[in-house]
Amino acid sequence: MSNPKKKIPKGIIFFLTLPIIIVSLYIIFAGINSNRKYYNYSEIVNKFKNHEVSRFEMNLGSGDMEIQTRMGEIIHYSAPSTKLMCLDIKDHIESYDKAHPNEPMVYNFVRGAETSWMFNAFIYVILPILLLGFLMWLMMRKVTIVGGDNSKLFPFGKSRAKNQGENSKVRFDCVAGVEEEKEELAEVVDFLKFPKKYTDLGARIPKGVLLVGPPGTGKTLLAKAVAGEAGVPFYSISGSDFVEMYVGVGASRVRDLFGQAKKTSPCLIFIDEIDAVGRKRGSSIGGHDEREQTLNQLLVEMDGFETNEGVIVIAATNRADVLDKALVRPGRFDRSVYIGYPDIKGREDILRIHAKGKPFGADVKFKDVAKATAGFTGAELENILNEAALLAARKNQKVITKAEVDDATVKVVMGPEKRSHIITDEEKKITAYHETGHALVTHYCPTQDPVMEISIIPRGYAGGYTMSVPDKTPMYYSSTKLQEEISTLLAGLISEKLVFSDISTGASSDLKRASSLARDMVTKYGMSSSVGPLFCDTSENSFIESGKVYSEELISKIDSEVSNFINLGYLKAKEILEEHIDLLHKIADHLMTKEKLNGDEFRSLLT
Ligand code: ADP
Repeated sequence: MSNPKKKIPKGIIFFLTLPIIIVSLYIIFAGINSNRKYYNYSEIVNKFKNHEVSRFEMNLGSGDMEIQTRMGEIIHYSAPSTKLMCLDIKDHIESYDKAHPNEPMVYNFVRGAETSWMFNAFIYVILPILLLGFLMWLMMRKVTIVGGDNSKLFPFGKSRAKNQGENSKVRFDCVAGVEEEKEELAEVVDFLKFPKKYTDLGARIPKGVLLVGPPGTGKTLLAKAVAGEAGVPFYSISGSDFVEMYVGVGASRVRDLFGQAKKTSPCLIFIDEIDAVGRKRGSSIGGHDEREQTLNQLLVEMDGFETNEGVIVIAATNRADVLDKALVRPGRFDRSVYIGYPDIKGREDILRIHAKGKPFGADVKFKDVAKATAGFTGAELENILNEAALLAARKNQKVITKAEVDDATVKVVMGPEKRSHIITDEEKKITAYHETGHALVTHYCPTQDPVMEISIIPRGYAGGYTMSVPDKTPMYYSSTKLQEEISTLLAGLISEKLVFSDISTGASSDLKRASSLARDMVTKYGMSSSVGPLFCDTSENSFIESGKVYSEELISKIDSEVSNFINLGYLKAKEILEEHIDLLHKIADHLMTKEKLNGDEFRSLLT
C-alpha cells in the first residue's frame, strides 16, 4: 500500500505567509513615509564636479558614503561600485583643492568589510521574517493546546498518556501484601487474555475497575502487573493531565487516548487520580466546565466502546466518596477493589521484594522492620530501604546494617535530623520535658502502643519526637483508645505547664491532631452520648459537596462535646504526670544529656 501523502494544513501556510506580508508592507510604507532624499550616481558625481562637496568619508568595503556639502547638507549614499566612484571623484577633488586653496576638501577613505547584497538581504528581510515566523510558531503552540483534535491547524489535544502502549514488565509477584486484590484482578487478566471464553457464554466483560486506596499502596504497580500478566499494551495517564485551563482540551485528550487504545486492543488504560476529573458534577462553586466536559467525554467513551472490544480501564483514587455516581454505575467502573495499608506479613514481603539487589547485614531482620512499620505504605517501605542504602553508602560501608534501617525508618516518618541546628539550653529543656510528658502518658495509658524512641534532636518540622509503634495494625479503634490518644497528645503541653508554669508554641501540631481526633469522635464515630450516633460532616467542603445543612443547635452541641473530650483527655494526662512527677524530672534530665532514648532505655528508667 502506498503511503498517503501528508497534507500541509492550511493554517501553517497562512501563518508562514503572514510575516512575509507584514515585512513587505513595512518596507513599502517605510519607503513612502521617510523624508530621506535619494540620489542617483550621476547626481552625486555632479555634486563633486560642481564643487558642492566640502567633506566626505567613504567606506571602501561597503561603498557607504557620508557627504557634506558647502551648504551644510549631510548626504548618506551607498555607491554601487567603490572603484568607479573613486575614479570619478579623484579629478574633482584635485580641481576643488585648486579652486579653494585655503580650504581644501576634507576626505577620508575607510577600509571596511565588504557587505554583499546577500548579507543586506539577510539582515533586513530574511532575519525579520524568520523572527516573525518563530514568534508565530510560539503563538501557534499555545493555540494548539486550545484547539482540540478537530482543529485544522495542528494535531491538538493529544492525550498525554505515558507508557503509550508499552508492554509492562511488571508481574503479580512484584506486588506484595495484596493477595486478595490480586485474585480479584486475576479475573481481569483472564478477560484480556481469553475474551472469547466469556463472550461465548454471553457474559459481559467489565469495562472499568476502580482501585481505591491511600497513595503509595501500589495501585499503579498493580495495574501495570495486570497488563504485564495479560501481555497487553499499557497506557497510563493521570486525571490531572486531562484538566487544563482551556475548555475542551481534556475532552479531546480523552478522545485521543481511547482512540489510540482501541487501535491496539486488547489493552489496558490506567487513569491515576481519577477524582481530578471524576468529581461529582456541580459540586463546586464557580465554573468547572472543563472538568465536567472531560468527565462527560470519559463517560461517553466508556459507553462508546463495545463491551467486548478488549479495552479495560483501571482507575485509581483515594477519594472514592467524591466520585460522580454516573462514573461508578454498572457498565462503567462497576467493580471496585480496595487496597489498604499492608499488614505485617504484607510489609515483610514488600521489604523482601525491594531488598533484592541490596546487601543487608545479618542483624537486619525484615520481620522486625515490618513490625516497627505499622501503617506504612509500600512506597514508604521501599523508601526506607533506599534511605538505609544511602546512609550505609555515606558511611562507606559494604553492607546495610540494622542501624541504618532504624535510622531510615525514623527519617521517613519525621524527616532528617538537624544536628547542626543550634538550640539553646532553655529550648533543650523545654523539648525534653515536652517529649518526656508524651512518653510517660503513652506508657501509663494501657491502650497506647509501646514507646519506641524519644529524641530531642530536631527532625523535619519537629523540635523533638516520641515514637510509639503498634504490634499490629488494628481494624478498629475503641473510644477509650482514642480518648487516651488525646491524653498522650496533650501531655507535652501539660508537662511544660507543670514544670515551667508556662507553655510554648511547640504544642501546636499536637493540639491540631487532638482537636481533629476529638471532632471525629463526635461527628464521625458516634462516640458522644449527647450528640448521639450521628454522622455529620461539618468540614468546609461538606455543604458544597453534599448540600447538607446542620442546625445551629447541633453545631453548638458538637462544639461543646469536642471541648468536653479535649478536657477529659487533659485531666487524665495531668493526673498521670502529677502522679509521676519524679519520673518526669528524672527522664527529662537523662534526655537532656543523652538527647535520644530508645524504648528499652526509657522503660529501664521508670523504676
Ligand atoms: P499508588 O499508585 O497507590 O500511589 P504506586 O503503585 O505508585 O502507588 O507505588 C509506588 C511505589 O511503591 C511502587 O513503584 C513500588 O515500588 C512501591 N510499592 C507500593 N506498594 C507496593 C506493593 N504492594 N508491593 C511492592 N511494592 C510496592
